[in-house]
Amino acid sequence: MTARLDHRTLYRLPWSLPDNAISWLEPTAACNLYCEGCYRTNDPRSHKTLSEIEADLDVFTSLRTCDGISVAGGDPLTHPDVAQIVAMIAQRGLKPILNTNGLALSRELLVELKRAGLKGLTLHIDSKQRRRGWNGKSEVELNALRLQFAEMIAEVGDLSCAFNSTVYDDTLESVPDIVAWAQEHIDIVHVVVFIAFRSAMLGGPFDYYVGGERVELGEVPYATPASARTDIQSTDILATIQERFPDFAPCAYLNGTERPDSFKWLLAGRLGAPGRPGRIDGYVGPRFMELAQTTHHFRHGRYLAYSGPRVLRRGRSLLLLSPVDHGLRSAAASYLRAAARNPLNALKRIHFQSVMIIQPIDVLPDGRQNMCDGCPDMTVWNGRLAWSCRLEEPQRYGAFVQTVPKKPPTTH
Ligand code: SF4
Repeated sequence: MTARLDHRTLYRLPWSLPDNAISWLEPTAACNLYCEGCYRTNDPRSHKTLSEIEADLDVFTSLRTCDGISVAGGDPLTHPDVAQIVAMIAQRGLKPILNTNGLALSRELLVELKRAGLKGLTLHIDSKQRRRGWNGKSEVELNALRLQFAEMIAEVGDLSCAFNSTVYDDTLESVPDIVAWAQEHIDIVHVVVFIAFRSAMLGGPFDYYVGGERVELGEVPYATPASARTDIQSTDILATIQERFPDFAPCAYLNGTERPDSFKWLLAGRLGAPGRPGRIDGYVGPRFMELAQTTHHFRHGRYLAYSGPRVLRRGRSLLLLSPVDHGLRSAAASYLRAAARNPLNALKRIHFQSVMIIQPIDVLPDGRQNMCDGCPDMTVWNGRLAWSCRLEEPQRYGAFVQTVPKKPPTTH
């Protein structure tokens, strides 16, 4: 099942190689957990020094304008100097956002990181992790763990709280449960991200080459037997969400480098109040997202990433923009209907929440690699920008791998 969507009706996010909302810093490839869909080889001796991290930040600031820096890995909390790394980013006037599995996160550490300038966290939690105490739990059961983190982050305060999870063939059906959970906690959960599982297929229809030489891809962590499903589309995830929530409507996207009509990043923004069942007033439309991105760029010279909770809870004032955006108009109508049913509803805060669906690399039948155009998750390799989802390739082979369709077998 896949959703039909015309990219020309959505706002193309304006992010590009030199001017983006975020960039991706990897201070370490060390991790304290195993995740099935991880792109990095766990290396406990891979912590970068602070001067190496300064050098990576210099590359970002010399090549790219951005609003936030995702501090990822590996797990960045395994780095002994994580608070200093956060402070180094904040001192450059950028928003540090930690991408972590949360295992090493305590309230005390969170307070220390916030003091150092932390602006938000993205917690990766899904059912294909070997997380002690949660091994074998379903995505629905894991919502209890997500809530523990969301409550801790809300208690420390003034931090953006995001969750991401990898979506596999057998967890696709659970996506609406996470969407529903996030809706219920819209006041403390600001972003949810679903990433379609991707992996290079071994024994599949392609051979892999670097500089004209054939390479065996079995060494990179994102190589799997061809039997694994690696073609879940963002529109498949969308259709699964819409089956439960027919109103769910994306407003913006990032296209693929090879296919302008593919949805590599698909973004929905919704407005609502928390509670059981959570009340969603509506979904913002493309004009609102265009206004949000371009106004921020006009005022601050950067595209917006990770708004803070103080901004996101001002959903009622966003409704004033309904003359320019059809999504906001229907959200305003829904808000007024709720207020007419019960005037106390009018007093409730309305919060804004983003739901992002990411569809990483697709290899087209002729071997072309359809990457995210204007990749926000560019990291640094050897002083230049590199796709973080494929960093293992230049590290192992000196360059990104080319995919070449296998020749059809000869019959005689
Ligand atoms: S190209 Fe790779 S690193 Fe860049 S945004 Fe897409 S999945 Fe992430």
